[in-house]
Amino acid sequence: MHQDLLEKLAKLCELPGPTGREEKVLEFVTEELSRFMDVSTDQVGNVVSTLPGKQQHSWIISAHADEIGYLIRSIEDDGFLRLAFNTGAEVPDTRFLPGQQLKILTDTDNYVIGVVGLKSGHLAGKEGKKVLPKMSSLYLEIGANSAEEVKDDFGVAIGNPVVFDTRTRLLGKDDNFAYGKAMDDRSGLLVLLELAERLSEIPRSSRPTLRLVCTVQEEIGVKGVHSIASYLRSEGVVSKVVCVDVGPVGDTPGTAKLATPHLNKGPIIVVKDSMMHYDRQLVLGLTRTANKYDIPVQRCVYENYGSDAVGFFSSGGFPSSLVAIPCRYTHTPFEMISLRDLIATIELLSKFVSNKLW
Ligand SMILES: [Zn+2]
Repeated sequence: MHQDLLEKLAKLCELPGPTGREEKVLEFVTEELSRFMDVSTDQVGNVVSTLPGKQQHSWIISAHADEIGYLIRSIEDDGFLRLAFNTGAEVPDTRFLPGQQLKILTDTDNYVIGVVGLKSGHLAGKEGKKVLPKMSSLYLEIGANSAEEVKDDFGVAIGNPVVFDTRTRLLGKDDNFAYGKAMDDRSGLLVLLELAERLSEIPRSSRPTLRLVCTVQEEIGVKGVHSIASYLRSEGVVSKVVCVDVGPVGDTPGTAKLATPHLNKGPIIVVKDSMMHYDRQLVLGLTRTANKYDIPVQRCVYENYGSDAVGFFSSGGFPSSLVAIPCRYTHTPFEMISLRDLIATIELLSKFVSNKLW
């Protein structure tokens, strides 16, 4: 099913691009977008590409490059490494970390693989097995015997970022479910790449002016977007914004009361979250577009959630909306999306920006 789309999704997800070190993702996106659009990068790393069309009809579609991860916090004398979180979450999550294979991005282009260790079951004892692991009891093992070896032979230094080292895989009888690391937000970036291709095929006189933005540093509190939003504002750009990100779902055991969207029921039009109200006209326009073209969508209100749209709204002054790709197990190494939802998101946005139904 959609082999080329799937290959591109796996390629994007498997690129290491932690917050602050997004360069591999930005390079790939720049290369892909350059086939259809003029691409430039601002001083902090955000990528913006433009496909000229009708002046009075202008869209910014945005997704973030970075993924959640960790940082090397300290190096112990015996060669074990301690980790810090590389995320803006108020209460960082250790539940998914023990036993994971991780990839350290060193100061050069080299990677070092490690595994997160914890006292084994034989040694933890009855009581030890009941305790949720704290960050202070977890460590990263790279096979080094001393701090000197870590630094001199492996080239690992304090502050090096660390990501999950997970392949993208498929599940389900028609291979509809894809899971792995960084679906958040590489699946959103894939939507941008597909939009670039589709809209470039429409003659300039009948398509909207399209700006595709790939932001940095979203995962530590939507930091990168503010600079590109203020830049676009200072350039006099008048546009409406759709951010594309993943959205949590409440369709797995024990989650029904925590979120209303489901996997496989279409893209999520977010009305409000903990950071902002999304633009009402855009919410209505997206809903009308979905109805007209028979694209399944879900509307939702999120708590404990926010997106880059707040940067476009607050620092750019742009009416902003958010379309989320439903995702199970967000911020884990096995984030899971439905390929049907992904295709419906591409379909919804290409119809939305090329037809004036808002
Ligand atoms: Zn995200």
